[in-house]
Amino acid sequence: MIRENLNRVRAGIETACERASREPSEVTLIAVSKTKPLEDLQEAYGAGVRDFGENKVQELVEKAAAMPQDIRWHMIGHLQRNKVKYIVDKVWMIHSVDSLRLAEEISREAQKKQTEVRILVEVNAAQEESKFGVSPSQTEELVRQIAVLPGIRICGLMTIAPFVTDPEENRKYFKQLKKLAVDIEGKNIDNVSMNFLSMGMTGDYLVAVEEGATFVRVGTGIFGERNYGAF
Ligand SMILES: *Cc1c(COP(=O)(O)O)cnc(C)c1O
Repeated sequence: MIRENLNRVRAGIETACERASREPSEVTLIAVSKTKPLEDLQEAYGAGVRDFGENKVQELVEKAAAMPQDIRWHMIGHLQRNKVKYIVDKVWMIHSVDSLRLAEEISREAQKKQTEVRILVEVNAAQEESKFGVSPSQTEELVRQIAVLPGIRICGLMTIAPFVTDPEENRKYFKQLKKLAVDIEGKNIDNVSMNFLSMGMTGDYLVAVEEGATFVRVGTGIFGERNYGAF
């Protein structure tokens, strides 16, 4: 089942790339495995997945210890400052940096572990009350503040679009994130690149790819419905 789902999602990404005249190699599929048991991750791994996304620190750390070492782990969920120390040397990228204080903590822990952490700045593109993320108008300022911190490298932007039934409704937010990234790239801020755009989930990843996503984060579409509390 997981293998078939993966094939379908990969094929969808390819055709969305064709529509947008993009190279499929520009888009990395992150398999969002939160709440799913190790067997499911192993099956996805067997089908070639090397990028996994988790949204809870403890779950990420446990799964990283149990899975092969060539996996790139992506922290995609809200991150509390007191838990940063557990993951700075385990994740390939943190997608969910939404405040200077969190970035400062990542910087501190990265220096302690003599590493550099790749991050994305999370933007609340639709300005939803219920969502984390910096507002679009404050993104550049936050990027500038984080850019000067040692041990941390800003690689782009991330957004979680609203939950909608028609993915076309989210196209404007994906366009907006892409434009914001291009604008910020144009400012040539030291230590900042905007090479990565993390946007699109099961319901809207095709539209996100058409609008320039380089990471799509797909959970349900690969692993099926989640049963919270299962892990
Ligand atoms: C759970 C989650 C996803 C995946 O959601 P699906 O709709 O199951 O594809 C993507 N991004 C984030 C930040 C998530 O928390």
